[in-house]
Amino acid sequence: MPNTSNTQFTHFVPYEAAKGEEYMNDAQKDHFRHILLAWKQELMEEVDSTIHHLQEEASNFADPSDRASQEEEFSLELRTRDRERKLIKKIREAMERIEEDDYGYCDTCGIEIGIRRLEARPTATMCIDCKTLAEIKEKQVGS
Ligand SMILES: [Zn+2]
Repeated sequence: MPNTSNTQFTHFVPYEAAKGEEYMNDAQKDHFRHILLAWKQELMEEVDSTIHHLQEEASNFADPSDRASQEEEFSLELRTRDRERKLIKKIREAMERIEEDDYGYCDTCGIEIGIRRLEARPTATMCIDCKTLAEIKEKQVGS
């Protein structure tokens, strides 16, 4: 089974901002551009390996008694692939925001999201306060 726990990207050196450094200056944009690109690359490789894995398994349908468990595994992998695709789309959108100088600011209140939060969640479009609020509202609607 391919590794499916790639909803976070961790292979990077945390950015050390100099004192008084401007938020989202070129160096910071480069930093996040690099993270997003590397993460996207990793996810795309994973999507590829999932496809290969599915193709291998599909040619192995000799024993009907294995079918049920294989089908279950298939649908699990397809869901993973779907999740990865959505994530890749979000990464692309984040990269576009960098080019449009929109990256790193909260969509809802316009405040700086912050380097550390963006490193933990490079696709974040909301500050932690707005995100928390949105999640509470979502739960209230859902219940
Ligand atoms: Zn906000």
